[in-house]
Amino acid sequence: MSTIAFIGLGNMGGGMAANLVKAGHDVRAFDLSTDAIARAVEAGCRAAASTLDALEGAEIVVTMLPAGQHVRSIYLGGDGIIANARSGALLIDSSTIDIESARAVIKAAFERGLDMVDAPVSGGVTAASAGTLTFMTGGTKSAFTKAQPYLESMGKNVFHAGDAGNGQVAKVCNNMLLGISMIGTCEAFALAEKLGLDAQTFFDISSTASGQNWSMTSYCPAPGPVATAPSNNDYQAGFTAAMMLKDMRLAQQAAASAKASTPLGAQAEALYALMEVAGKDDLDFSGIMKLIKGSL
Ligand code: NAD
Repeated sequence: MSTIAFIGLGNMGGGMAANLVKAGHDVRAFDLSTDAIARAVEAGCRAAASTLDALEGAEIVVTMLPAGQHVRSIYLGGDGIIANARSGALLIDSSTIDIESARAVIKAAFERGLDMVDAPVSGGVTAASAGTLTFMTGGTKSAFTKAQPYLESMGKNVFHAGDAGNGQVAKVCNNMLLGISMIGTCEAFALAEKLGLDAQTFFDISSTASGQNWSMTSYCPAPGPVATAPSNNDYQAGFTAAMMLKDMRLAQQAAASAKASTPLGAQAEALYALMEVAGKDDLDFSGIMKLIKGSL
């Protein structure tokens, strides 16, 4: 059993902290939201009064925060996690953030002699609660080896993607591909319908032909073929268009910094931004079907 500080008990972090408790750890939980702390206590965590209070005795620190600026502000500086974690502590940031922030924070941890990994996740709130997340981890081999058993308590697939920041690289590239493939899938189903081919028949053919992809077979944006898909529930999220847009923006930021050409990623970002402008970014990201069909 380890003492774990867990900071950021939102939609994802709440379930993840609960799974660390189930694995037998002593989890000291903190969030800016008192409701979130109360839910974590119900799941068996111990409430902490602040981030610094949560660090008390913690051998492991896990953070699950909205974006890069939150991660920088909580880790860096005199009152940050890096300056105040006990020596020998292992730091794990599972937030989805920009690669530059991830590398800057891990470098600062390294300079204080602390092991740290970036370990963003794939899989939504249901996977966070069920402990079936996929972790994409960046950091040294030894930091990864130390983090692995804790990540395995919260997920079913745990990958070492290479050096610091490479977890975020894997995450952002995967989600850019997902965002693009979803739009392409919507276009194909919308066109098939206009040309007189119903969704189920097109699905039966294309899902066994070369157009087959995850957005189609597991999350079909046309109502009907995949019973569990948000398209059958008026596109209630799921994974919101707002979260997809966040990841598309991270991908474009990363592409600009690497001088990489990602024209479809740029176009996909622009399309998800239209959902934001229309005030419909709380829909599932597959709800971009409505935009493609002119019915957003
Ligand atoms: P969320 O907004 O529900 O939770 C974030 C939590 O962090 C909130 O409870 C907030 O109060 C807390 N917080 C913010 N600043 C804090 C601080 N300084 N100290 C303590 N607590 C603080 O977000 P979420 O859906 O849980 O997502 C978390 C991360 O996981 C994001 O980076 C997101 O992109 C990523 N992610 C989310 C999903 C998803 O389906 N929701 C899937 C994959 C990855």
